[in-house]
Amino acid sequence: MESLHGIPGGKKEVWNTVSRIYLDGTLTTRTDPQVLEEMLPYFTEKYAVPSSQFSHSHGKAIEEEIEKRREFIKGYIDGKEGKLIFTSGGTEANNLAIKGFARENWDKGMHIISSSIEHQSVRHTLYTLEKEGFEVTYLPVSPEGYVDPDDVKKNIREDTILVTLQHSNPEVGVIQPIEEIGKIVKEKGIAFHVDAAYSTGWIPFSVENWKADMVTLTAHKVHGPKGTGALWIRDGIKIKPLIDGTFHEYGLRGGIPNIPGIIGFAKALELMDDEERERVKYLRDYLWKRLKEEIEDIKLNGPEERHPANLNVTIRYVEGEAVVIQLDLLGVSVTTGSACFSRKLEASYVLRAMGVPYEDAHGSLRFGISRFTTEKEIDEAVSRLKEVVERLRKISPLGRKE
Ligand SMILES: *Cc1c(COP(=O)(O)O)cnc(C)c1O
Repeated sequence: MESLHGIPGGKKEVWNTVSRIYLDGTLTTRTDPQVLEEMLPYFTEKYAVPSSQFSHSHGKAIEEEIEKRREFIKGYIDGKEGKLIFTSGGTEANNLAIKGFARENWDKGMHIISSSIEHQSVRHTLYTLEKEGFEVTYLPVSPEGYVDPDDVKKNIREDTILVTLQHSNPEVGVIQPIEEIGKIVKEKGIAFHVDAAYSTGWIPFSVENWKADMVTLTAHKVHGPKGTGALWIRDGIKIKPLIDGTFHEYGLRGGIPNIPGIIGFAKALELMDDEERERVKYLRDYLWKRLKEEIEDIKLNGPEERHPANLNVTIRYVEGEAVVIQLDLLGVSVTTGSACFSRKLEASYVLRAMGVPYEDAHGSLRFGISRFTTEKEIDEAVSRLKEVVERLRKISPLGRKE
């Protein structure tokens, strides 16, 4: 396991083997080849499972390897005082945290506080709980996307049992004042869940400083494999499992865990360091600078201080959908609004909650920079985008004043 500390060379290599430019790193990222390499033996050579540790040494060896990763990830988030339950990703971890806690603790109260810009996996989990009789308060956000800690305080009631908020938002990059909110929630003795799926690896944090009781993580947004995540739970917090089965993952998640995925998850975190985050942030800032230089009537959505890999802009007098489709024809992958909403041609609920006017929300573009993005790709993408915007504005029915 020394390799968790020393990174073998080559991580700065550019792995782009395709000419298309992928700028949708907010939705998912490419699994780093070094991550894949680490995972491969766990398919074909080390294929035993931890639960067979009591029967034979194949199982014991895997159990030790998985526990090392579990401890490493717990250390990474400063979560020694809790359990890490591996899941199939952020979505399952959010479901497990929120449903698991609510269904175990409903006798203490049935009120939950959240926000109006949560990820769909939190929103829909809360909708399900509402059908089961729980009451949810969805806090509003400021024009930049911030939840006001005072609002959290004001909305806490006698029967509030849980506050669930995301750390960073994948659409507009806003980072919530979780530490301040955590203090308030803790003072009231209420459980605090933080969805840190998008922050995993990108923004270092401490679950202790947050005073969090449950924290959601995922691997695939930070060059880890898809289908692997985790829920961290503070010792003493009780939840009901969602998936019943054999006594895996402390009895809180039945089914044999994704062993290669867990190995890859730890490796992906190991590959992240400040240098890497700075480099991606530099590229993101470079993209924003180039966009402002080349395209008129463009504005930033969300705050300046944001997730290092995220950019969200509104280009006025064009339709985001039209831009995305035309850019795709020119070999550039980006998205407009939120991925799930764009399919329905509705304005993004996140931007709407921030008070972004309907037309501006429709003209929004979301970029996700990754480890594999290059400056050259950004230059190329901006020049293709400029071409598309100019073409669309010529025929735009959206009333641009000349
Ligand atoms: C991506 C994401 C999730 C879902 O994680 P998956 O691993 O894709 O299921 C949850 N919350 C936030 C904030 C995310 O960005």
